[in-house]
Amino acid sequence: MKPKVAFFSFTSCEGCQLMFLNLEDELLDLLGLVEIVNFREAMKEVLADEYDIAFVEGSITTHSDIEEVEDIRKRTKILIAFGACATIGGINAIKNFQPLDDVRKYVYDRDWDKIDTVPTMSVDQVVDVDCYIHGCPVDKKEILDVVTSVILGKTPRVPDYPVCVECKLAENVCVFDKGLVCLGPVTRAGCSAICPTFGNKCLGCRGIISDPNVNAEKDLLAERGLSIDDILKEFRMFDGLSEVSK
Ligand code: SF4
Ligand code: SF4
Ligand code: SF4
Repeated sequence: MKPKVAFFSFTSCEGCQLMFLNLEDELLDLLGLVEIVNFREAMKEVLADEYDIAFVEGSITTHSDIEEVEDIRKRTKILIAFGACATIGGINAIKNFQPLDDVRKYVYDRDWDKIDTVPTMSVDQVVDVDCYIHGCPVDKKEILDVVTSVILGKTPRVPDYPVCVECKLAENVCVFDKGLVCLGPVTRAGCSAICPTFGNKCLGCRGIISDPNVNAEKDLLAERGLSIDDILKEFRMFDGLSEVSK
């Protein structure tokens, strides 16, 4: 029996699910290994309501999201937080830095008090998560690595070293030398340092590594004339739920 796989989406742009569909060369092989039973973005049918693997994309931002993800958890053996919105709150966590009612009024205008919303949470702030696929969007190779590991009953390896490691392996010119502020020294690798490789700064979309030398990074940034507020804003874009953003 193939493992039953389902996809669910909460507050997000659904771009991470698109990355799964964009696997192109590998998708048919992958579909030979698993049975997709629920995937609103790709099919109408719902073929099962219990899952071996559930990909959960998006942040939890409403009371109904909380109830729904708790229900999915009960019906799932291995729950994968899928993409930055799900793993670290992502861009949706920016709203947590403003009074919630101000955000509701700004977004929903005169009907603001009819809209259900709670401060943004990552999926693991609500239910237990078994695996993480980081990034905004997720990396296609990492999807394959994680799915393969899960099917084989292995624990997926999630990099816990900085983007700088991959950046140096790619022999990139450091974007600090171009006057940009890069969060690569404290951000989890796994994306092949794609942003610096194309001349851009790392914005920290894969989250902060578990043992970052954050103070050194702050000093590094301050040496370049940035205030602490500027620095926090840099962390807050994707990592607003992390301690360093508080
Ligand atoms: S992590 Fe990024 S690409 Fe994925 S759903 Fe969230 S906003 Fe979209
Ligand atoms: S560009 Fe960014 S990721 Fe690359 S070495 Fe410099 S600080 Fe590190
Ligand atoms: S370089 Fe940074 S911002 Fe770009 S994909 Fe990697 S972790 Fe995300």
